[in-house]
Amino acid sequence: MPQIKKILVANRGEIALRVMRSAREMGIKTVAVYSEADRQALHVRFADEAVLIGPPPSSESYLKMDKIIQAAKETGADAIHPGYGFLSENEDFSQLCEDNNIIFIGPSPQSIELMGSKLGAKAAVAKFNVPLVPGTAEPITDINKAKKLALEIGYPVLIKASAGGGGKGMRIVENENEFEEQMERAVSEAISSFGDGAVFIEKYVTKPRHIEFQIFGDKHGNVVHFFERECSVQRRHQKVVEEAPSAVLTPALRKAMGEAAVNAAKACNYYGAGTIEFILNENLDFYFLEMNTRLQVEHPVTEEITGLDLVQLQIKVAQGEPLPFKQEEITMKGHAIEIRVYAEDPANNFLPDIGTLQTYVRPQGHGIRVDDGFEQGMNIPFYYDPMIAKLIAYAETREQAIEKMIRAIREYKITGLETTLGFCEFVMQHEAFRSGHFDTKFVENYFKPDVLKKTPTVDESEIAALIATQFFNKQKPTAQNQNNTQQQPSHWRTNRLKHS
Ligand code: ADP
Ligand code: ADP
Ligand code: MG
Repeated sequence: MPQIKKILVANRGEIALRVMRSAREMGIKTVAVYSEADRQALHVRFADEAVLIGPPPSSESYLKMDKIIQAAKETGADAIHPGYGFLSENEDFSQLCEDNNIIFIGPSPQSIELMGSKLGAKAAVAKFNVPLVPGTAEPITDINKAKKLALEIGYPVLIKASAGGGGKGMRIVENENEFEEQMERAVSEAISSFGDGAVFIEKYVTKPRHIEFQIFGDKHGNVVHFFERECSVQRRHQKVVEEAPSAVLTPALRKAMGEAAVNAAKACNYYGAGTIEFILNENLDFYFLEMNTRLQVEHPVTEEITGLDLVQLQIKVAQGEPLPFKQEEITMKGHAIEIRVYAEDPANNFLPDIGTLQTYVRPQGHGIRVDDGFEQGMNIPFYYDPMIAKLIAYAETREQAIEKMIRAIREYKITGLETTLGFCEFVMQHEAFRSGHFDTKFVENYFKPDVLKKTPTVDESEIAALIATQFFNKQKPTAQNQNNTQQQPSHWRTNRLKHS
């Protein structure tokens, strides 16, 4: 079997470092690629070699397939790890690696293509007995027909972009009167964000929980799952807090969902790491949402409860090794929670608040893991995802993991920009979260910006600074801020599509 000797990591930030660390432990050399905005970045310093691939915008650097392939050839890298985001779910890139005799550490181009379309994915998994949310199986073309179908499905319904991702291109329609208007908006958002206007209708599941399963396949047809992650605490349909295991799954339900997840992976002949996302209703009925054909941001919580290194496993599978265990041999122990520390202002609709990390002190100690890509004094570049770090707490029980997380959040010192730390402490303290009785409406139902002013973690000078910043923010034209974020092009999603 050919052993991978050098991996080029086609990504930046925490995930680039995370991949390189695992490679180094296996005696594999690492190559970083970077944009002009990332000259000082930690992943560049950590790697054995680094190649500048272009200007700051990701469309001119981290999404430039030819530049990345060229960098791999120049440095003699025999494999490429795409991380998450950017080119990780781009079937053309997976194919291009194959064509250039470079191992793509991820699934085949065929699996990516099939699962990249939500409609295509639903059609494929339906044949394998995986339950789907009631909805249309084809893209909507005739609005009157669509309205009739929506009535049959029953309001509220959700209009979704087939090529969608990152929580974008989704519209809830409460009743028939709103249908046309929301449909128009969904189509135009789908075109501008993903270059593909195909939309479909799904029953809007009320009080939904987002529960996903980590699956893993090898190149010999074996597929297993590593249990679930609960990702119901979301803003803008995007995750901020994740945990494993979920507080609501019974062993029987876990088994049924795990089997459905494995079947969904088999429906696309999957190999590598992947995630099957489900939605769970109040009666604990579960439905397939979509598959993410890559390593997930929140994979560390699965690593904590299973004791596995998912990146090392990805590398082994990519070089053709069979999975070293059967489903029955995989066990979980303890409880892990991850929070995403974003440079965002929870008091201002979670809008990005990029700037300089004037103070940056990480929490430490038993059961605490920080995956990040920054140091004190560094800038969070405007061009990319504003995630600063992932903070993971692991303990024997859920209660202990929550207490550990609160302790770590209070130890984390970040000044110079607003972050989601205070918001995440609010989540950890909240009765709904602690009791496990929450759904994807958590933020909408319970979070008001003023609750953050009461956090007991800040000292007086910090409060003064906080008030001053808030006052300053109120003076700022927020419409402009809003424009800023809305206009940030989501290139990596657009680029997944062939002709955009
Ligand atoms: P994306 O590709 O943007 O991740 P998903 O289909 O995974 O799109 O949906 C993202 C989130 O939107 C889910 O985690 C869930 O919170 C919500 N959602 C999606 N579909 C439904 C539905 N049918 N009913 C209720 N909520 C939904
Ligand atoms: P996950 O469940 O792994 O967070 P997402 O689909 O929400 O899956 O996003 C994965 C990562 O991809 C994000 O953390 C972010 O870095 C990047 N990403 C997601 N959506 C977008 C987007 N619209 N534009 C740019 N980057 C995005
Ligand atoms: Mg999703």
